[in-house]
Amino acid sequence: MQKISAPVVFDGFEPHPNGVLVLNDAGMVLDLLPAAAADDDSVQRLPHGWLCPGFVNAHCHLELSHLKDRLPAGEGMVSFLQGVMYNRQADAELVQYAMQAAAEEMLGKGIVAVGDICNTALSAPIKAQSPLYWHSFVEVTGFVPATAKQRFDQALATAATLQQYQPASRISLVPHAPYSVSARLFQLLQDQPQTVVCMHSQESEAEEAFLTRKDGPLLQLYEALGIDISFFEPMGDSSLQYCAHLLPIANSTILVHNCTTTEADLQFLHNQYELISGQFSFCLCPGANRYIGNPLPDVHMLQQHHAAICLGTDSLASNTELSILYEMQLLQLHYPGLPATQLLKWATYGGAHALGIAQQFGSFGIGMRPGVLWLEQLAADGQLQHASVQRLY
Ligand SMILES: [Zn+2]
Repeated sequence: MQKISAPVVFDGFEPHPNGVLVLNDAGMVLDLLPAAAADDDSVQRLPHGWLCPGFVNAHCHLELSHLKDRLPAGEGMVSFLQGVMYNRQADAELVQYAMQAAAEEMLGKGIVAVGDICNTALSAPIKAQSPLYWHSFVEVTGFVPATAKQRFDQALATAATLQQYQPASRISLVPHAPYSVSARLFQLLQDQPQTVVCMHSQESEAEEAFLTRKDGPLLQLYEALGIDISFFEPMGDSSLQYCAHLLPIANSTILVHNCTTTEADLQFLHNQYELISGQFSFCLCPGANRYIGNPLPDVHMLQQHHAAICLGTDSLASNTELSILYEMQLLQLHYPGLPATQLLKWATYGGAHALGIAQQFGSFGIGMRPGVLWLEQLAADGQLQHASVQRLY
């Protein structure tokens, strides 16, 4: 058994000044005691910094790790999508090596659980060996309705391969994005019973222009690829309003990016989906937004509507590192008033809630093994810009 104290113990929800965390040798939380308990010789007192639960990376694409530094930054959504399409094929050994290095990077940066998008089963052996918790989201794409069944069957085959390495409860079938999935393919996904789903949503102005006006650079991309989309009729006031009724039904639905999400979109979700509104989580990936050249989401507006928020790194194709601390630093740089406690709640409990694993991760609940991180160099006013993180458990 070990007792550790720090000037601040953040339990996933709120700070406990000089709290004492009691752990067994395996890192299981036995208790969280008040400051008075720190006056005990058996307590290891850290002289500075904060303790917090391990970070949850709610959105990653491990299998794109070999594209680090390969795609030019700031050229917009369509250029990025083309970059991934044309560059993702690579030497199998290189792909495995890059995924292994990326998984180790996340471990070193205090991440304990990952929501990971899969287009193939290439990441399965690495996940099986990794100490991280993985939820694999097998992603389907196909905007032409005639291909729906074939694309869906491919995803089922990928999921079956993944199931040889990880439990079925940690695998979902999910749509890529509203502009790349036909209504027929959405329907096939809706017929699947699922616990957690996710979708890239409202990532760019290009997405909004295409779905609501059938206009903009995504239309040009489909033309350039020679894909006939004459059947498609734009509709709805926004991408989210266009596709909300098509989303797979699950206990938790993670909408990833939300860069162009407006007040009207949130109101729409509240009005149309009152019964399930608590089940939407809004995943913010500011590092990827900045890299691609998309706007950052309106965080204050999401907060005003009490949206459940979590954080993701997205992939190394569109980010310089896989670090939840870095994502928090970017958000705080853009929104200087955001307190560290709020960001840390999104980085810990928010991600665990979104992935449906809040009973195991994201807070210092008794009996849980959420990982224990030591954050140093936090400024007295809660600025995270110079903070560093190391894992104690
Ligand atoms: Zn993504």
